[in-house]
Amino acid sequence: MKIPDRVKVGPFYYAVERPELLINHDHEHLKGESDHQHQVLRIESTLRPRQAEEVFLHELLHAVDTFMDTEMSERQVALIARGLYMALTESGILAPADEERPGNGPPQ
Ligand SMILES: [Zn+2]
Repeated sequence: MKIPDRVKVGPFYYAVERPELLINHDHEHLKGESDHQHQVLRIESTLRPRQAEEVFLHELLHAVDTFMDTEMSERQVALIARGLYMALTESGILAPADEERPGNGPPQ
């Protein structure tokens, strides 16, 4: 999967930013975040490629959840994003990123 520079959710365009380090207002280290106020999804650029893809899907799901007003919990977003990424990649619908480092890829 190619992580795009922007995504459209309903009528809203979200920019996708890839900061090296992502710290929230509570000084917590995050892998990704969805900023609905500024319509930005942020995904840490230092994540392994497949982890970055899954985090991107997770943050996109938050944006969809906000637009659709489904009020999903953090746990629901986390599990649906993980399950959806798994199903899409294992069914061959979505090609996962090549892992650069040995030992992180699927078993041969
Ligand atoms: Zn989340």
